[in-house]
Amino acid sequence: MTGGRPRPDATAGVVVLGSANLDLVATAERHPMPGETVLGLSFAEHPGGKGLNQAVAAARSGATTKLVAAVGTDPAGGTLLDVAAAAGVLIDDCVRRADHPTGRALIAVDRHGENSIVVVPGANATMPAMTGELGGTVLLAQLEVPIESVAATFAAARRRGLTTVLNPAPAAAIPEDLLGDCDIVVPNQHEVDRLGGVQHLLDLGVSAVIVTLGADGVLVADRSGRRIHPAWEVDPVDTTGAGDTFCGALAARIAMGDPLSAAVDWAAAAAALSTTIDGAVPSIPTAEAVDHLIATGRRRA
Ligand code: ADP
Repeated sequence: MTGGRPRPDATAGVVVLGSANLDLVATAERHPMPGETVLGLSFAEHPGGKGLNQAVAAARSGATTKLVAAVGTDPAGGTLLDVAAAAGVLIDDCVRRADHPTGRALIAVDRHGENSIVVVPGANATMPAMTGELGGTVLLAQLEVPIESVAATFAAARRRGLTTVLNPAPAAAIPEDLLGDCDIVVPNQHEVDRLGGVQHLLDLGVSAVIVTLGADGVLVADRSGRRIHPAWEVDPVDTTGAGDTFCGALAARIAMGDPLSAAVDWAAAAAALSTTIDGAVPSIPTAEAVDHLIATGRRRA
């Protein structure tokens, strides 16, 4: 044993398999009709994609976190990798540079705040299954990379004894084999309906179903019953990224050894804080900010 800070244990941590996108956001008075051009008011680029967002949330929550993703060899790919690395996410041996453009979301926002979005998966669609050793103790994935790749990666991770966590977003029908390889499924209200409801997931062998309910908090369902964890009281300005923050923070706290109920409370506090700042990645809180909210904040009645 040498002196100084302990090295992070690379085998105890979170592996996030998922998408990385560059979001291109234009605002305009109104949306163009098909075939029409309108002049915009403003433009901004933001890092995004559920995989990247959730990896940043896990890392800021204090877990050793690795992102398994595919981006292009274009400058946008480099930008996204810089964002991940700056947040402390490990990317070196697990992000593919694919011969496809980096995934992009083209987002138009009108004066009412209504979005219309075209997502071009690009490199994300080339993400293969990762059946070799990934490190980590918790594997977290969403559905913005090919579902066959998620399914094969989960099956291999299960055989190695990792805890598998699926955020089934965006909402989709999911093969029962994949659901059967999930220890924990974290849908929102809309997504859980697409999956046939909480009881159906428990019947397929999922150990815990954690349904995020926005300002109404979180429903946790497992073999011992169903409990609501009320949301933390905050003044929200932008709920973009709340679900991603919840999932990343939950996976981190499970990897760090929290019991499920404590991990849910901690992740809900992280997600609540994320609603108090605009954007996704910039709004993901540090562990210190979450600890402070838990020590000083209140739950909604
Ligand atoms: P999604 O964006 O994926 O639909 P939710 O809207 O359910 O996810 O939000 C995820 C979690 O974020 C919620 O379960 C809750 O803990 C927290 N959250 C969301 N909105 C609020 C809010 N207005 N106040 C406090 N916490 C919130």
